[in-house]
Amino acid sequence: MTPPTPSSSPSESLRLGRATIRDVVPYPTERLPCTADLSDNTNLFGAPPAALRELTTAGRDEITRYPGLHARSLREALAGYAGVRSDQVVSGCGSDDVIDSAVRAFAEPGERLAYSDPTFSMIPVFAKVNGLVPTPVRFAASGDIDPEALLATDARIIYICSPNNPTGSLAARRSVDRVIERAPGIVIIDEAYGEFTDSGRVGEAPEHDRVLVTRTLSKAFGMAGFRIGYGTGAASLVHEIEKVRGPYKENAPAERAAACALREDVAWMRDLAAKAVQNRERFAGALRAHGLDVLPSAANFLLVPIANAALVAQRMRERGIAVRPYPGLPGIGDALRITIGPWALMELALDALLGARASVVTTQPGR
Ligand code: PMP
Repeated sequence: MTPPTPSSSPSESLRLGRATIRDVVPYPTERLPCTADLSDNTNLFGAPPAALRELTTAGRDEITRYPGLHARSLREALAGYAGVRSDQVVSGCGSDDVIDSAVRAFAEPGERLAYSDPTFSMIPVFAKVNGLVPTPVRFAASGDIDPEALLATDARIIYICSPNNPTGSLAARRSVDRVIERAPGIVIIDEAYGEFTDSGRVGEAPEHDRVLVTRTLSKAFGMAGFRIGYGTGAASLVHEIEKVRGPYKENAPAERAAACALREDVAWMRDLAAKAVQNRERFAGALRAHGLDVLPSAANFLLVPIANAALVAQRMRERGIAVRPYPGLPGIGDALRITIGPWALMELALDALLGARASVVTTQPGR
């Protein structure tokens, strides 16, 4: 067989790629300059002070040498924050890495990964790149997850995102309990936005033998650039994920700075998460006052159903504001997801949205 050359055409590389990933679209990475980026749900209030301080003290060894094999100091700090033992924590290059590794650790190619649709857009991708069958089911009419529909898939992995990206909805505790009780395989509960609610199971995951709760330092903690996420679960579960994930997934300066922030900046984070929640409700009120539809949210973003969302987002972008458009979400239609930050940014976002709406047809059929 002739090895691929750098001049291989896209169709040749398509032929060489695994059949199961042919229709996987790479995550959009384009980041055009803008006045305010409200597109990725990061902490728009700033970075944790202890992390900033620690970063300036990185020594030569931290750059020339490999980091610790199992990120011990980070795991201890994460365990202290989450209220579990350090052997009940697995960290990774973002919670993306933890979820992806868990998918590989607990399901064979050909098995199903079930989730309520719409949810975090990487989930069907993680299923496909690991040879699993993405199996979406509808949310219940109430907006809650539908435990029976998830269980009826007989999926090896059931993924529940709560608060859910992009809708912002919380899964009812009773419904999640039902899934945990009956699931034939593992249940992944993604709490990337858990800091914006009072609920959450990050501390109790190890009580079950089949539950992995994932969280991240990318959102409320304001450290997306460090790429640190983690999961909590029974030590035996964590061990399986670590085998698959492999070593050296966190870089040394980020690990040290993040561990400091977890010890010293929790009050800072909680204060800003509370501000985001306050601004979210105020922004939702302002949108509704202008006749826009807004879904109730338990996270640091709002989903705004609006026709022609891609065009509205483009017009907002021309006004310097980046938001995330979603075309044709199941049960919702076109919508914009808008990250909540300091009020001054939300005022800019409102102006841009109203200006964009005035220039585009935004009536949704059937809503
Ligand atoms: N889960 C959800 C629900 C998310 O929205 C995101 C980021 N968009 C992630 C996981 C991954 O975050 P990270 O890899 O930065 O931890």
